[in-house]
Amino acid sequence: MFHVMSNPATDEQQWGPQTVDPGEFTVSLPPLVEPAAELSIDEIRRYSRHLIIPDVGMDGQKRLKNAKVLAVGAGGLGSPALLYLAAAGVGTLGIIDFDTVDESNLQRQVIHGVSDVGRPKAESAADSIREINPLVNVIIHNTALDRDNVKEIFSQYDLIVDGTDNFATRYMVNDAAVLLGKPYVWGSIYRFDGQASVFWEEHGPCYRCLYPEPPPPGMVPSCAEGGVLGVLCASIGSIQVNEAIKLITGIGEPLVGRLMVYDALEMEYRKIKVRKDPNCALCGENPTVTDLLEDYDDFCGAVSEEAQEATLNATITARELKEWQDSGKDMFLVDVREPAEYEIVSIPGATLIPKGDILSGEALARFPQDRQIVLHCKSGVRSAEALAALKAAGFKDAVHVQGGVVSWVNTVDPSLPSY
Ligand SMILES: [Zn+2]
Repeated sequence: MFHVMSNPATDEQQWGPQTVDPGEFTVSLPPLVEPAAELSIDEIRRYSRHLIIPDVGMDGQKRLKNAKVLAVGAGGLGSPALLYLAAAGVGTLGIIDFDTVDESNLQRQVIHGVSDVGRPKAESAADSIREINPLVNVIIHNTALDRDNVKEIFSQYDLIVDGTDNFATRYMVNDAAVLLGKPYVWGSIYRFDGQASVFWEEHGPCYRCLYPEPPPPGMVPSCAEGGVLGVLCASIGSIQVNEAIKLITGIGEPLVGRLMVYDALEMEYRKIKVRKDPNCALCGENPTVTDLLEDYDDFCGAVSEEAQEATLNATITARELKEWQDSGKDMFLVDVREPAEYEIVSIPGATLIPKGDILSGEALARFPQDRQIVLHCKSGVRSAEALAALKAAGFKDAVHVQGGVVSWVNTVDPSLPSY
């Protein structure tokens, strides 16, 4: 079965790729980058295994040397991508990431090490790159990509490698790339499933042609909520680097207009043809998106309107929950996460009832009518969705905990593990 991006559900009618059957559709494109004047003796020694491949050769390596590539994110996909782009001899590598290295990143973000925990990811990644290849000019953007800086940053590069893990940034990367006429290599990972493609509006579809609408809020868990097999990052990140090298040097057939779908459990790679959508809001015949959106978080709706409404005057903090517990308040505390998450860390006294069982109505009978109901999840998004469902079912006084378990660990009991 075809897994739609990070979508564990199967409702492909409402939200899924606008694709047709795979065919023999391929494009050959001229090299994206002009060759550098020459390679030094050091460079010739270092890149000899590239130089003796006829399709790469001296010309291809000079193009790599002249190339400026930006990695958006030095996380799961950015880590292997940056390591191999550096080793391959891409002359200028930009890294944009505002996050710091966390212990839970090390399972897959192999560009960072134990001694980097707590450091900015962009700086940690830059150090690793310099260790692999000091000939690379590394540019650090230790900042969050936003609508005010994205075009200015992208315009400094030939090619963007997108390793973002959230829809708001993903749509913004796409829109900025299309508006600037830049190609970018996209990748996405979830549990055992990965996808990759090259979006280049001049030659093929854009991300909005493939996914015109972001998924409904709460439908797609993030890697932090849903998990990802560490090595999947290498599988997809290396496809992204492969495509970047092909684009820069003009060899092979890039994944323009084709979506690569990888299933690690079945060990299956499939290619799906993707056409430019004449109705695409951005690159279609009558575009409605002609500049960056005002607010990508809004567009992607991190929390649904119903959930937002349900949490009004029905939200408590982790500290307030602790006070309620200490005062002996009669309440029913429900953890709406999944069993595997409950095993990692849970708030004392919480009963596990996964969100899906509440939304389906299956678990409603387990909720008492005469006690204060308190819901929580990891960060407050899922519990807000569950709260909306409970309120709709008549539990008007139910509340949820802002920031969930993460907030509990941070503000009430730092001795517990976070994830
Ligand atoms: Zn489009």
